[in-house]
Parts: sequence; C-alpha cells; structure tokens
Amino acid sequence: MMSEIPHLDCGQAAFFFDFDGVLAPIVDDPLGVSVSPIIRQGLRDIHNRAGGAVAIISGRELAQIDRFLAPLELPAAGIHGAERRRPDGRFEHDEIDAAILKHAGERVMAFTSRHEGTLAETKNASVAVHFRKRPDLEAAAQEFMRDLVAELGHGKLVSGKMVVELKFSDRTKGDAILHFMEADPFSGRRPVFFGDDITDEDGFQIVNSMDGISVKVGSGETRARYRLDDTSAVESWFTTVCRHPRGEASHNNLGRAS
Ligand SMILES: [Mg+2]
Repeated sequence: MMSEIPHLDCGQAAFFFDFDGVLAPIVDDPLGVSVSPIIRQGLRDIHNRAGGAVAIISGRELAQIDRFLAPLELPAAGIHGAERRRPDGRFEHDEIDAAILKHAGERVMAFTSRHEGTLAETKNASVAVHFRKRPDLEAAAQEFMRDLVAELGHGKLVSGKMVVELKFSDRTKGDAILHFMEADPFSGRRPVFFGDDITDEDGFQIVNSMDGISVKVGSGETRARYRLDDTSAVESWFTTVCRHPRGEASHNNLGRAS
C-alpha cells in the first residue's frame, strides 16, 4: 500500500540522513562519490528550517563525510556511531584497541592485495573489504572476514551493499540517532531518518519506536514505514520540503513502504 505522509513541519522535526545511497548515489569507488548541488542546498535549507536539528548517520568516517559535504559541517555520527560530532561541534569517539585495529588492517590489506578489484579500508573503529568491482568475490570476502573475527576473538561483522565490515565498537546507527535525540536541538522533535542499507535498519527501528518517520531508499525488505526509489527521489523530496514556505510540506513524494 502506498500513501503519502500527510504533513511534515521542519520546525518540529529532527532529520537524520545516511550518506551513501541516500545523499550520494553509490559508485564503484567509495572515494569517487559526489553530492549534487541540489542536495547540498537542501541540507543547508533544512538545517536552517529545522533549527540545526540535522545529522548525518554514516558508516564512513566523519573526515570523509566532511570532505564530501564541504563547506557544510553538520552534526554527524561516523563509523556507525563510533565517532560523533555533537551539535555544539564537540568531537567524541569510542576508544578502540589500536593494536587489534592495526593487525586487522594488515590482514584485510593482505586479502585485498591477493584479490584484484577489491578494496581495503581501515577506519578509526573498523576495517572493511569493498567488492563493488568484484561482486563475484562476495563469498570469499565474507569467509575471510568470518575467519578474521574468529582469529581476533573480537569485533562484529556487518554486511552492507558490496562491503563487509568488521566493527570494533558495539554502537549501531540506532544508538547514534538516540544519542542525538537526547540533546538540543534534537530533543522533543519528531525524528525523520533516511537510509538505504542493512545497517540503517537499527535506525529505522529506533525512529519507529519514537513515532518518527523512517524512509527506506531503494528496494528490499525493511522496517522503514516509507520508501523512496533512489537518490534522485531523495533530491526531489529535498526540493519539495525545503523550499516550501514555513518549511512545511503538504505534498511530497514519499510512498509508504508495503
Ligand atoms: Mg547507505
């Protein structure tokens, strides 16, 4: 069943956006993504209209998010919540065992050097193998990472779109959203969260529990209550919501997830 959300008052809402697959289309090279001028302007507008209650909730490191959104520097949670920039600009991060992280990084790089087209990524709280250019290597990458967890006896595997990641922080995107919702200017508002991937489901669950608006971008099973087809639909949503006088949208193109 499809139905539009009836009303969204930006002055009463708190907005959370995943990055890849929501604000930027997914491309082969994770470092090659770009954010359209419409989305940039949309984020700026919505940030003004929502009194600053806008945060990015991503698996990426904050430094990367900032680079892609520059000169915008929004409140944000990186590495699925392991690092956070609070609304007052203060930076926080979970302490991760540096030796384990270094060892895991070396093992992941050894794997990707043996498998052309895969890409290793070492973040401040996780390591990842990307296989966007080699979807045929998904099973091999998964198996390698399972073995690595067993070897380290530490960490948690999460699978995303064309990526498998080993996290050394227990935080989820749901925790990250909750964290923001407990503080000004987010608290007391209705949370709205856009995500596209498996790790966003924790966020959808939290947002649903707060009577918020959860939006899945793209196809697939989800706990989200609404759905948009792709990043261009997100772009259209931004133009509708943010340019409407008083920050209210009586009509937009959000369809209810079936
Ligand atoms: Mg994503």
